[in-house]
Amino acid sequence: MNLVAYFQARQAALLQDLRALVEFESPTLDAVRTSALAEWLRPRFAAAGATVQLVPGENGASLLAEFGTDAAAESSPMMWLGHLDTVWPVGTLSRMPFRCENECAFGPGIFDMKSSIVLMWEALAAVCALQLPVRRPVRILLTCDEETGSASSRALVEREARRCDRVYVFEPPLPGGAAKTQRKGIANYDLLVHGVEAHAGLEPENGASAVLELARQIEQLHALNDYAAGLTVNVGVISGGSGRNVVAGQARAEIDVRFWTMAQATRVMAQIERLGATVPGTRLALTGGLDRPPLERTPQSAGLYEQTRQLAADLGFVLAEGAAGGGSDGNFTSALGIPTLDGLGVAGAGAHATHEHILIADLPRRAALLVRLLTG
Ligand SMILES: [Zn+2]
Repeated sequence: MNLVAYFQARQAALLQDLRALVEFESPTLDAVRTSALAEWLRPRFAAAGATVQLVPGENGASLLAEFGTDAAAESSPMMWLGHLDTVWPVGTLSRMPFRCENECAFGPGIFDMKSSIVLMWEALAAVCALQLPVRRPVRILLTCDEETGSASSRALVEREARRCDRVYVFEPPLPGGAAKTQRKGIANYDLLVHGVEAHAGLEPENGASAVLELARQIEQLHALNDYAAGLTVNVGVISGGSGRNVVAGQARAEIDVRFWTMAQATRVMAQIERLGATVPGTRLALTGGLDRPPLERTPQSAGLYEQTRQLAADLGFVLAEGAAGGGSDGNFTSALGIPTLDGLGVAGAGAHATHEHILIADLPRRAALLVRLLTG
């Protein structure tokens, strides 16, 4: 059975489904919309042979679909992880309508990651239609608030991932379609500097400048950068002081920290948390800490990539690998020690940008790859 040819023959139907999904706008944190989308998808996954449940949460419902778990599958389930929400507000379609042009399909959320959702149910449906034996069952989880940091769905992602022995994350791939075997972790801090206010003309010596102290802290924080090692510390926002003629009583900064490994994170976080005030009379109050652990390239995740690369090669396409600075839900599953392969979405470009699109020709082979993940 030539699976790629099978899906090429279904391309018109695939695009029609994709259009319907893109035109169902589902902005992140819009609980009504994302829940309605989960409801809309339920019969589609059910018709493709999955057992579906919706899991309510404070930012909307997430969809959980099981497939092949009743079959005489020889192994524990894998997870296919994705999200229903997009960064686009309702009404975006009027200026960014779904359209196909120059072998690309455009539309809000098409690359990140509605095209992946279509491929998931298409793959299940194909396994049923072609009566292929399922060798590895799957638990599909589509969450509702990934784009805002998975506030309400992180626990669900972790709970479901623990029931699986591997996780495939269907976020957009790197340029050219490469999978992501590494993602940076993120720590966030707020630094508040307390000083002592005084009149800048009458008695400045009785003050303690929070602005001066903050300036020194910024120098120290930026000195922690090690670009070559992929370790970054960025003071992105500052504020402070109350008037030109006042020695500043307060100042604050927002700090973004990124790293490839937990070892780097532990080291740099300790350095940041050890920083002390140097201007007499000022003191520091630091809040924050680890936000997302990194998705590290472990021997297990490298093995998972290699297996998947081989399946793609059998289908006639090259699945390369690479690293990304941004985080995803894959960071959470990887931190649990579950081999995780990310960036398995459809090739394209423009996530979160007005030219967001996918390459239509990539759809059939990606769908075929999902079938191979199920059937071995
Ligand atoms: Zn995404």
